[in-house]
Amino acid sequence: MDTFSHALWGYGLFGHKRHAWLAILFGAAPDLISFGALMLLNMLSGTWHFGKPPLETLPSWLFTNYAFGHSVIVCFSVVGLVWLWRKDIAFAMLAWPFHILLDFPFHAKSYFATPLFWPFSDFSIDGIPWSHWYIWYPNVAGLIILLTYRFKQKRKVKNQ
Ligand SMILES: [Zn+2]
Repeated sequence: MDTFSHALWGYGLFGHKRHAWLAILFGAAPDLISFGALMLLNMLSGTWHFGKPPLETLPSWLFTNYAFGHSVIVCFSVVGLVWLWRKDIAFAMLAWPFHILLDFPFHAKSYFATPLFWPFSDFSIDGIPWSHWYIWYPNVAGLIILLTYRFKQKRKVKNQ
């Protein structure tokens, strides 16, 4: 899914009570450390273009960062360690594995299939890209339902 949707899912599922910014950040993190970093570098050098960059133009560090961020091995190791120390923070960080879960079926092998078990295995599936309307619209609908529900919940608590 796109980075913005990931951030919103993170907030709606794991940041609605506490640590909203952490949930938003960890929801987007796997993409921020890869494509976000590249975008920033390209903007600084004045070579940024809107749209999906072709594979052959991407630097090798991006693939490593992408794999790092989209591996459940890395993710659960980090979240697990934080869990021992601060359960509330670890809860907000669950936005990270949810990002991976959402990317896993919705990336094709031709463009960044999710390397679930990196660095131990390069297993991935040839999913349906999230840019297809029949994935994209349900994603937006799901977000609207979830965020409306959270907003109403908050108003209810305030009015009590
Ligand atoms: Zn992603």
